[in-house]
Amino acid sequence: MKKRVAILIGDGMGDYPLPEFGGKTVLQAARMPNTRRLAAIGRRRRIRTVPPGMNPGSDVANLSLFGYDPAENYTGRAPIEAAGAGVVLGPEDIAFRCNLVTIADGRMADYSAGHITTEEARELLRALEERLGREGLRFHAGVSYRHLLVWRHGPAETRLAPPHDITGRPVAAHAPAGARAAEVAALMEASRAVLRDHPVNVRRVAAGRAPATQIWLWGQGKRMTLRPFQELYGRAGGVISAVDLVRGIGRLAGLEAPRIAGATGFLDTNCEGKVAAALEFLRRDGFAYLHYEAPDECGHLGDPRLKREACEMFDARIVAPVWLALEADGIPYRIAIAPDHFTPCSVRTHTSEPVPLLWADGPTGLSSGEAPYDETDDRTEAQAAWSAIRALL
Ligand SMILES: [Zn+2]
Repeated sequence: MKKRVAILIGDGMGDYPLPEFGGKTVLQAARMPNTRRLAAIGRRRRIRTVPPGMNPGSDVANLSLFGYDPAENYTGRAPIEAAGAGVVLGPEDIAFRCNLVTIADGRMADYSAGHITTEEARELLRALEERLGREGLRFHAGVSYRHLLVWRHGPAETRLAPPHDITGRPVAAHAPAGARAAEVAALMEASRAVLRDHPVNVRRVAAGRAPATQIWLWGQGKRMTLRPFQELYGRAGGVISAVDLVRGIGRLAGLEAPRIAGATGFLDTNCEGKVAAALEFLRRDGFAYLHYEAPDECGHLGDPRLKREACEMFDARIVAPVWLALEADGIPYRIAIAPDHFTPCSVRTHTSEPVPLLWADGPTGLSSGEAPYDETDDRTEAQAAWSAIRALL
């Protein structure tokens, strides 16, 4: 029988030394006894999840951690989200992320239109589809401010700014640029007229909330195809994540990616439900990829103490129960732990440093010794993450 493999990802856990923690990183300052006990019986090395020249997005980084080289396979963020949402792309389609945003006084006031509710957003998307949609140009409603536009023969090369990167800045300086920029700009402009006096926005303004003044298109790309995981590794299995992006990669790889009730992508997430689903896949198919989003969100908030709490939760409520269950089953297993990228609290966005990968094989009996698990240099050159993960599968 093949060894069971559990990959446990703490999104954005990597960080820099922090004055709040006397010069320690979050991973060094957090109480993570289970991860450190695994480090004592396992091995550790730094891996590069973001190939040189690519953006340190969770899409690129997680693609690496599934064992796929992003330089060869990545086509854009939107096509992965489309897969996660079950939107099928044709060979000529270009998928775009379509945010509902608030622009005020010519500036990007809010990339999320005040975290607009899904119900309100659905109404607005219906109006956009009615007024601007046509054969070959279709809006797909998603969750809150995150939606998709599928545009047949759409402009694949236009340079478009992610709206969360330009908060507070003048949008004129970040307008679509390059090939076919005018077409994208015209569509975004047309959405202003559709949304301006829409009842949803009228109600939001009356209630003192941010209106969705227009759509913002970005992250576009053509359909992405991945060689099936099963074909590469002879394994089926499942992906457990609150995030469509990560579930999308899993689906593109041919893995199962169920929605888990109560999985929120924050500290209030349903850890026990996620662990139960992962163990089900491990016992049935021998493979599970469990992604935990909370540390990344805390990094974006710039809150080291909350991030430490998120890492401690990862250790106590994800790592510990998965390890204990695999050990108790007595069947050979391997546990791998890694962040997908750094989200340093001081920077509040993703950075591209190599991340620490830890892996340990069992059953060996639970160790009592501890070894460090952190970002420090192990004096070896960082290995490409996709090839390091391939070697573990
Ligand atoms: Zn991430």
